[in-house]
Amino acid sequence: MYGGIDLGGTKIEACLHDGGFNALERRRIPTPSGYGALIDALGDQVEWLRNAAGDSGLRIGVGIPGLVDHTSGLAYTANLAAMNRPLAQDLFRRVGTLLPVENDCKCFALSEANGGAGEGAATVFGLIIGTGVGGGICVDGRLSRGWTGLPGEVGHIGIPAWLLDDLKLEQLACGCGRKGCYETYLSGPGIARISAAFNAAPATGETVAAGLAAGDAGAERTIAAWSRLAGELIHTLQLTLDPERVVLGGGVTLIPGIADRILQAFASAKLAPTRTPSIALARFGDSSGVRGAAMLARPDHQPSRASS
Ligand SMILES: [Zn+2]
Repeated sequence: MYGGIDLGGTKIEACLHDGGFNALERRRIPTPSGYGALIDALGDQVEWLRNAAGDSGLRIGVGIPGLVDHTSGLAYTANLAAMNRPLAQDLFRRVGTLLPVENDCKCFALSEANGGAGEGAATVFGLIIGTGVGGGICVDGRLSRGWTGLPGEVGHIGIPAWLLDDLKLEQLACGCGRKGCYETYLSGPGIARISAAFNAAPATGETVAAGLAAGDAGAERTIAAWSRLAGELIHTLQLTLDPERVVLGGGVTLIPGIADRILQAFASAKLAPTRTPSIALARFGDSSGVRGAAMLARPDHQPSRASS
């Protein structure tokens, strides 16, 4: 059996999996605000998993909503108390075992590349578009960790200025300190920003999705612009990582027909002679993060660049 822990902004989910990474039992607890309380809550989930499995040596992995520098051991979590903290080492002190800790988008990619919607593809990019935009790359089922833990952080790639001009969108400031990042436009809040540029009435990602379903012209224009941006991002992914399959996760990708819209936009953006990667929706949905976290603990899981 394997245990996965998915640390989120509002809840910490623990899920016990069997040897084939099928979910057996899960437990959710609220995410506390202070760092010490956060480590304690993660420790509680580790103990719950060990008890549920009846195995004090249960293999457990942890996904967090931020970056992990595997050389320094520091976590970078803009929205949690763990910013610049050695989370894995502090959790080790709490539970007595050094558990693998990885970015949650990378856990998603690992899960979908192994038994999920990316199964059978040699190179899989797991792309999450929700309240933020992030991802991870798996080659032959193995997660690419890169040098600094960054590969897949595509939400902070800058959109080409000519494309924003074409779409009559301004270069908006991003939370990362730069301007014109994909995340600022493609995320759920980003859809609302695009809508605000085109439509007088205020909107949210949810109201735009509802408007699209109802045939509203303003919502259609918003999602058409969004799709061109998403297609351009896939073009950049192809030029840099060339995935065979892109697996989509996150709330925004639940908009009906979104994968086809991205594919059509990509077809107009790509270099003419290149083939098109397939785009699939996640098989395990919201559970893929915790499933991938559990996979980090697999004895044969070795990221493509191992840390010491
Ligand atoms: Zn950014």
